[in-house]
Amino acid sequence: MKIHRRALCLMAIAALAATLLLPSSLLAQQRRLVTIASGWVVGVYYPLAGAMSRIAYKAKDVNIRATVESSGASVANAQLVGSGDADFALLQNDIAYYAYNGVTLSAFLGKPVKNMGGVFTIYPELVHVVATKASGIKGIRDLKGKKVVLGPQGSGTEANAIQVMESHGLKVGDVQAERIDAAAAADQLKDGRVDAAFFTTGLGSAVIVDTFISGKTVLVPVAGSEAAALIGKYPFYTAVKVPANTYKDQAEAQTVAVMAMMVARAELPEDLVYKFTKAIFDDLKQFHEAHSAAKSLTLETALNGMPIPLHPGADKFFKEKGVKK
Ligand code: GLU
Repeated sequence: MKIHRRALCLMAIAALAATLLLPSSLLAQQRRLVTIASGWVVGVYYPLAGAMSRIAYKAKDVNIRATVESSGASVANAQLVGSGDADFALLQNDIAYYAYNGVTLSAFLGKPVKNMGGVFTIYPELVHVVATKASGIKGIRDLKGKKVVLGPQGSGTEANAIQVMESHGLKVGDVQAERIDAAAAADQLKDGRVDAAFFTTGLGSAVIVDTFISGKTVLVPVAGSEAAALIGKYPFYTAVKVPANTYKDQAEAQTVAVMAMMVARAELPEDLVYKFTKAIFDDLKQFHEAHSAAKSLTLETALNGMPIPLHPGADKFFKEKGVKK
């Protein structure tokens, strides 16, 4: 009997010691698992989501493990949040507005994504229209009859491509439209299998760098009265320039841009989103190192172009910082 009690006692001590010695990988399993829907592996969302996941993991009190998923991007990401399949997502501010309000895009008409709260806006995403030199395309109207990648399935890029073409009097049926992923679009441009491709992405995005290294591509401007009409009809666009030599031997080109932003699923606890947001702004240095476009994130500008109501956790953070009243 005595021995039995002693054995039990020893077992209890052993169990306690085992808990204290749990390898960190096991302890990590106690963290809440969340997913961040990002974008193209060759784009900007993906490295940024990776950085946010690492920052949140490292921060003392966030207690989450965030997995990053690549996707077509904005439209798909809004839908993933809507269905509860993603907790956080990166997407364009124009697409976030269309999704939340159930307007403009067929993906959202009558299917608004209401359970999505804004967290912060980050950097301008420029509509890069890349054409092969061999195609002779100089302006958007020249796309007529050509093989054109509108963007990956589920991308914001595709929506932008259609709006840009529309402002130049072109319909999807006027081009040989392709919807393929961004890396494949770059390969096909380099091989001359397509004439042009749209990419709405941050300056310095790997996929654009890659097509220009080939020396076979040019940027097609989105400019003039057509760009003005586009901005008039869809006010999320702003007129911007791609400075010369952002990409190898590339001439300065006028185009339009929207903003990249972060959203959180409305059902996520206020405290979780608050701590997540705080962790990012507490470690802006690491965030900025993820990509040159990431350097645009500052506390002061983090709500510029925010198209939807903030998640309560982000709202609390920005009020505390005096950025929001
Ligand atoms: N803005 C892009 C889209 O939604 C994704 C860009 C990226 O992954 O860098 O189509």
